[in-house]
Amino acid sequence: MTSIIEPKLHKATDLLLKGEVVAIPTETVYGLAASIESNEGLKKIFALKERPFFDPLIVHVANFKQAATLTTDWLPLADYLARVFWPGPFTIVLPKASHVDPLITSGLDTVAIRYPAHPLAQELIHLVGPLAAPSANKFGHTSPTQPKHVQSEFPGANLLIVDGGTCEVGVESTVVSIDAEHVRILRPGAVTEEMIQAALRKWSHPVAVSRGSSQASPGSLKHHYMPKIPLVIVEPQKTASLAAELRLRIQNETGKPAQNAVELKLNDDPAIAARELYSEMRKISESGADCIYVVNRSDRQGMWSAIWDRLSRAATLDLTDAHSKSPQ
Ligand code: AMP
Ligand code: MG
Repeated sequence: MTSIIEPKLHKATDLLLKGEVVAIPTETVYGLAASIESNEGLKKIFALKERPFFDPLIVHVANFKQAATLTTDWLPLADYLARVFWPGPFTIVLPKASHVDPLITSGLDTVAIRYPAHPLAQELIHLVGPLAAPSANKFGHTSPTQPKHVQSEFPGANLLIVDGGTCEVGVESTVVSIDAEHVRILRPGAVTEEMIQAALRKWSHPVAVSRGSSQASPGSLKHHYMPKIPLVIVEPQKTASLAAELRLRIQNETGKPAQNAVELKLNDDPAIAARELYSEMRKISESGADCIYVVNRSDRQGMWSAIWDRLSRAATLDLTDAHSKSPQ
């Protein structure tokens, strides 16, 4: 059994309507999609990903009407922000409508909704209806940004992968929960806190923006997005003495010393750094290296916030001055 990569949508549409799972492109990362109407399809997503049922899925829609039918409370503020940031990498958590399968929401009374910008994702949703789709990787692993990444995540699966090229954004969507006076950022992404603040300046009422703790977003576990080899974050001034330290620290952490650590260099432009992040992690993991290191930067503004969120969760060790995850 091998996966098939194809650019046309008729096979993908047939499979989704029959309750099968199909890998689809979005502008953030590739998703493993099933129709929200198919409980069987939804179960297959969790089985294929080996994803725990406590981690809820995002529902992808292709118009505002579909979004509004998924919630009991399509708040004016949600509508306003959706009109600013949709279609795009922006997911809104709202009270769930009763017809939404509890498998999607992990039994929570809220549902996460996004209108993706990728034209192939939109076309599929027009043909099939809303699709639940987490990233197309095994649970906890690095997300795929190219069809071949999906293939390498599920080598034995008979999986159709819709080829939409390389994902433009490269990291998962911004997730926010909204009530009348409050926007809480549960997961940072390409729609940045600064962009949300700027949009809210044109809204009729004052709205507080805060960053939620990772516990507020189920599934936002400390270790996530992990490449196949250890990833370490280091301070720039420590790179000279790095080799010896990594050998020892990785030995302590994993039982095997790191002999061949390779740097993942972040582009100075955060949009490019995000687009390349996961494919660089995969490239280095497959290059024969036994450790990836990333040099810390102080900037956490804008898109850097999402990049460092993913890097700190992907890291086996964080040797920066601010956060040391390893035992001293
Ligand atoms: P993924 O599609 O795998 O990138 O992850 C979807 C993420 O969206 C989950 O891991 C949660 O962090 C978040 N999410 C989905 N549904 C909800 C919800 N009802 N409440 C809060 N966060 C959610
Ligand atoms: Mg994921």
